Amino acid sequence: MTERSLNNTQLTIIDNIKIARENISDALASVGADGKSVSLMAVTKTVDPMRINTAIDECGIDLIGENKVGEFLDKKPFLHLDGVKTHLIGHLQTNKIKKILPEVEMIESVDSQNLLLKINEYSGKIDRQAQILIEINIGREESKTGVLPEELNDIIGLASELDHVKVLGLMAVPPICEKESEIRAYFAQMYKLFVDITVKKKDNINMDILSMGMSSDYVYAVKEGANLVRLGSALFGDRRY
Ligand SMILES: *Cc1c(COP(=O)(O)O)cnc(C)c1O
Repeated sequence: MTERSLNNTQLTIIDNIKIARENISDALASVGADGKSVSLMAVTKTVDPMRINTAIDECGIDLIGENKVGEFLDKKPFLHLDGVKTHLIGHLQTNKIKKILPEVEMIESVDSQNLLLKINEYSGKIDRQAQILIEINIGREESKTGVLPEELNDIIGLASELDHVKVLGLMAVPPICEKESEIRAYFAQMYKLFVDITVKKKDNINMDILSMGMSSDYVYAVKEGANLVRLGSALFGDRRY
């Protein structure tokens, strides 16, 4: 497609993605981590397939995240997913494991031992090894899912004994903070957990991915060690539900 045939919505998305990539590089440079690679996930909840395809086709976005199983499966047939990975990033109810597991590369939101066991059971049945991240409730918020930091060792221990799941890292959605120092402290706590598990070197556990940072705070997340950021509104504009 040539620039001329793109509409304003598409041009805005292209611009937004360019800016996000620059901000990520600048954040890395500011902490002396220039060479490090950070994956940019486009979070596509409430975003229609035309806009998602713009991000993929025009900007080379190769990772998308969806929160809801039903919404993702409805949109999937219309998406240009060749060479694009898809992750589930929202809470997964156990009765939807069957539907989603064959359809995504990774489940980032594994937030309980029960869900972990059920994913293992089903991926065993379809002879797969599910790639997962463990979601941490780093702000200890009642309203959020995720394991508490002190529960992490137990769920990692359990996962290391299961044949049909592979833990590839950690994910978090920290509380909304007013101050830079507050949000950075949560990201720093996540990075510490990530390093703690890495040095333990358990079977079946590879700490490759630290998924944290959203539209309002991804620059700080990158400065604190995130290597996957999940951006929705910064790329596609405000969500209309
Ligand atoms: C919606 C969502 C995002 C993206 O949020 P923005 O603030 O729009 O960037 C990232 N991660 C999760 C888990 C989400 O639900």
